[in-house]
Amino acid sequence: MISVAPTPHFAVVATPACLLCGSAAVKTKLQHDQKRLQKCLHCGVLFVVPQPSPAALANHFQRGGLVSIDHFDNQFEVNRQPVLSHIVNYIRSRKDEGSILDVGCATGFFLANFAKRSTWDACGVELTPSAAQEARRCGIQVHVGNTQSAKFKDQSFDVITVLDAFYYFPNPASELAELRRVLKQEGFLALELPWATSRAWQRAPIIGSLLNGTRIPLLQSSDHLFYYTPKSVTRLLEQCGFVVQTIRPLPANQQAGLLRELLWKTYSFFSRLLWRLSVGSVFLGPRFLVVAGKAAAGAREDNARLADQL
Ligand SMILES: [Zn+2]
Repeated sequence: MISVAPTPHFAVVATPACLLCGSAAVKTKLQHDQKRLQKCLHCGVLFVVPQPSPAALANHFQRGGLVSIDHFDNQFEVNRQPVLSHIVNYIRSRKDEGSILDVGCATGFFLANFAKRSTWDACGVELTPSAAQEARRCGIQVHVGNTQSAKFKDQSFDVITVLDAFYYFPNPASELAELRRVLKQEGFLALELPWATSRAWQRAPIIGSLLNGTRIPLLQSSDHLFYYTPKSVTRLLEQCGFVVQTIRPLPANQQAGLLRELLWKTYSFFSRLLWRLSVGSVFLGPRFLVVAGKAAAGAREDNARLADQL
């Protein structure tokens, strides 16, 4: 936790080092009351300080996060469909059977695509008990708690997904170490993330009002602890013993209202076009999928050394 002086002299507040790479080259991008959004100039990740305590985070999810189960059933699942369909199709293009773990599986609306097929074993981890109960109704095995407390055996899963949830982990490196342990040697990990900058745009006064219908100040509302770009999450994955196999732009979640839906679709279309024209070097959001496999032991050391030199 960062100690904040009672008077508004921000110069006396110690600037914390990057929570991922430890670099002291950190810049404040936004501040609201005592919360700040910091950008690491070394690895590129954005992170919120002070971070909530483990107890506050646990309490947040015990209460069901930000949305109720009804909201999941009536709206959220519908809104997520374009993105999730893309991810389901990608996974099926690589594998048509095996074991899949979804970390933060919510009510199981993604895993249901696999649970209904006899060739897949679908397993979820979920912090919110009421959501886990809903997922079990779809035939999914769900552990209530986190990945560590599930105590899965080594190399249990062919595919592991963390969809729109990886930014909640207060210690992403230790989470990735656990996911690496339970992933089979030839398996792959798929992380779906919002692009850091588009997340910030949505909270800006004018663009935010257009894209969201209303402006929600980033640091007032956000429960995200980290904001990733393809580059910063690649660096983190490589340091944690993974090899990134592909990064794919994803469509936006479905929006309420015709105008907003049109705006988001147009934005997504041009962003994906730019990604293709630039052969994967320019990415402007709004979401992306990063897929990684396990690095061999020697390559893991090389990656860590290379990442330190960047
Ligand atoms: Zn950093």
